[in-house]
Amino acid sequence: MRKLFSIMGWRISESHPHLDKELSLIIKGCCIRKSDFKSSNAPIPFPQSSSCFNFIFQEPKHNLYTRIKIKIKDHFNKTTYQPTPFPLPVQLLLFLWHNNDSEWRGDCPECSKHRKGSIFGIGSGGLLSVGGIIGHCVFCHKRYFYFIGGGIVTVREHLEYSLRDTNIRVYNLKFGGCFRGEKEPVYYYLKKLGYTELPHEKWLGIKTSSAAEMSIKTKDGGSVSLTLQGTQP
Ligand SMILES: [Zn+2]
Repeated sequence: MRKLFSIMGWRISESHPHLDKELSLIIKGCCIRKSDFKSSNAPIPFPQSSSCFNFIFQEPKHNLYTRIKIKIKDHFNKTTYQPTPFPLPVQLLLFLWHNNDSEWRGDCPECSKHRKGSIFGIGSGGLLSVGGIIGHCVFCHKRYFYFIGGGIVTVREHLEYSLRDTNIRVYNLKFGGCFRGEKEPVYYYLKKLGYTELPHEKWLGIKTSSAAEMSIKTKDGGSVSLTLQGTQP
């Protein structure tokens, strides 16, 4: 089945027609400063509105788990750990981009003659029967889609398979929406590292719409937007 996906490859995404040169700069910065991101304990969100999933660390004693006291029936206080979910982190994308077994990196249909592997996956998700990875080409600055199929649950399984050798796990899924990653954390982290090839600061103020919204067309030609939220711990 995985081979079938790779034959279909990356296709242009019509839902995001404008060229996003700023995101190309951010992706390049993350790759160039890969070792700095790896040494950071805190997950740094990647700026995106494409991931229908958020994540947790697998180890319950990781510092991102909040130590809380819960009361049990016999009035003894028991200490337990509550996970703190986070949106798609740069550290996870760096792993997926540089793992040969992953579909999160691919050849652009327009640019592969000049440069191989210029598409970087920036989120995944789906709806009822369509699902896949949303990618960005750092050469032509366009958005692409890698079809996985089977809807959001299949995409979740695909993602979990890709994460099997990491300490990160999928936590929630959002049906008809995304777990947005804000622009500021990665921007200011790269700036703090002394990285200078960044977008203009005005870019931080431009909000992007979710790439995972659903609407239903009505008989009279109009449309009704629909947002459902599903949680699967
Ligand atoms: Zn391209």
